[in-house]
Amino acid sequence: MENNNKTEVIVIGAGPAGVSAAITLARAGKKVLLVDRSDNAGDKNIFGGCIYEHQTKDIFYNFKEEAPVERIVTEEKIIMLTDEESAEFTYKHPISNDNASYTVLRRKWDKWCVEQAVKEGVCFAPKTLVKELIYENGTVKGIKTQFEDYYANIVIVADGVNSLLAKQIGLRKRLENKNVTLNVKEVYRLPKQRLEDRFNLNENEGIAAKILGGPLKNMFAMGFLYTNKDTISIGYGASLDELIKHKIKPYDLMEKLKEHPSISKLLKDAEFIEYGAHMIPEGSLESIPKVYDNGVMIAGDAAGLVNNIHFEGTNLAMLSGKLAAETAVFALEKGDYSACVLSKYYKKLKNSIIIKDLHTHNNTIEFLKKHINTITSLYPELSCKFFSILSCADGMPKQQKYNKFFTETLKSGVIKKSIPIGIFAMEKCLKK
Ligand SMILES: Cc1cc2nc3c(=O)[nH]c(=O)nc-3n(C[C@H](O)[C@H](O)[C@H](O)COP(=O)(O)OP(=O)(O)OC[C@H]3O[C@@H](n4cnc5c(N)ncnc54)[C@H](O)[C@@H]3O)c2cc1C
Repeated sequence: MENNNKTEVIVIGAGPAGVSAAITLARAGKKVLLVDRSDNAGDKNIFGGCIYEHQTKDIFYNFKEEAPVERIVTEEKIIMLTDEESAEFTYKHPISNDNASYTVLRRKWDKWCVEQAVKEGVCFAPKTLVKELIYENGTVKGIKTQFEDYYANIVIVADGVNSLLAKQIGLRKRLENKNVTLNVKEVYRLPKQRLEDRFNLNENEGIAAKILGGPLKNMFAMGFLYTNKDTISIGYGASLDELIKHKIKPYDLMEKLKEHPSISKLLKDAEFIEYGAHMIPEGSLESIPKVYDNGVMIAGDAAGLVNNIHFEGTNLAMLSGKLAAETAVFALEKGDYSACVLSKYYKKLKNSIIIKDLHTHNNTIEFLKKHINTITSLYPELSCKFFSILSCADGMPKQQKYNKFFTETLKSGVIKKSIPIGIFAMEKCLKK
């Protein structure tokens, strides 16, 4: 930081987007100030969840050896619930997997990421709340904090889903309820050996599970469960407008999920240690704001860059932070911080997996909402019925069992209801 409170780039927010931007700038030899409102980076940050190796190692080269990751995900599960029963699909990864995902806890993970940034030459200011951007003649010039004003040639805004700062300068509107999911998460402690026995895991192996149906049926909602070293993260995300429509209190829904017989036994005797709630932008192309203006760029959740269908947020945040930083390096070398030069950032986003994937899924959430009863109620019911009728040796002749299963399946209308889903999925797969 120069004496007159001016630096080359200020990055607001030390989440995945902000830290990646700051590290990329420092590696290019630029002066960068990273600020976050938390006492320690990550203190108040919540996610499921998993980080993805492919993008993470692009920023944190030795993260697998050095970072506080909890477990490598070796099993992906889809747990489908009815009111009483459950049916599971499990995919087991091969042992060596170069694009693995890892469960992490944000409190430890974010702190480690910021430490790496500081080692790379980033100047980090914790406990610094940015109250507003300094905005003069249509150009962002710096930040106003609770302490002092700081100036920079470029400001990268990576302050997360609510981004009051992007709203202040008119780049973003208030998110509509239909474009945002509310996520509730709890963490439970279970001694490491008991956790591994309960989930049938070897040392360091972990599970990432998605939960469909049960108390989450008939609304755009999905649960999740992740195993950490000696804790279990469990929660769900539900579209805000659906929670309002169904008049469900987020906490009550969480309780119902935990009470389901197939879930409660996974948490048995585990000690409750943490509760939190956080929004996620739904990640549609139309809700992405203009991501640059004179002297400013927006990255990560602040710009709505999330792929909710695939539970990808941290990787897109890291990539967008990196692309914003590369654009800043180019602008600093040119000595031009105008919107025209910074528009290069949007071009980079468009050529990256971020906009490509958001483009692929542009109408997916809308489509899923229309067919949500089939997906979250009918499919779990039929899956459970399949096992309950066909797997049980109860003296009923097999022909009679097959007949019963197929009659009930046909009666449910599943074939007719699945045709549009199949066509939609095929279109997504085949579209260039
Ligand atoms: C329950 C849940 C589960 C999820 N699961 C996954 C998952 O499994 N995998 C995955 O990849 N993604 C997941 N995500 C999404 C992922 O967490 C986000 O996409 C990602 O964290 C976005 O990173 P970011 O840096 O843009 O924002 P954030 O991580 O939100 O970071 C923003 C930072 O800005 C700081 N800040 C905000 N305002 C100010 C201010 N005015 N002044 C100073 N500092 C400020 C905050 O303190 C925070 O540190 C999940 C999200 C939730 C809520």
